[in-house]
Amino acid sequence: MSHNPKEFKPDLTAFAKRMQEQYAENDKKRAAAAELFETRTFLLEPFEQQTLSVWLAEHNKTCSMRWNEDGTPIQFPGGAAGGTLTYKFTPTGIGMATYVECSCGEETNLTDYDAW
Ligand SMILES: [Zn+2]
Repeated sequence: MSHNPKEFKPDLTAFAKRMQEQYAENDKKRAAAAELFETRTFLLEPFEQQTLSVWLAEHNKTCSMRWNEDGTPIQFPGGAAGGTLTYKFTPTGIGMATYVECSCGEETNLTDYDAW
């Protein structure tokens, strides 16, 4: 099949529609980020929950808050009330940066950059 460049007509309508959809999607993300910032409501999205679970499964094998130096488990990690994890949320104009820090000092980045 030959292709004559003079006959090539790009589908600008479809391109414009895709661009409009992309802009609308970006507007929705910005609005959601602004709303989170406004209400100070923070939650872990499924990707972040899964990333945290994977990290904890590995981290807890060696965390100094869970294991004594002689290899025996610490009975109450984080003290009587527990609570060894600190959640850090940083709303930005393009998405949420999410980190979790263990009280042993190690930290993991849960940010879902694909959602930005
Ligand atoms: Zn730890």
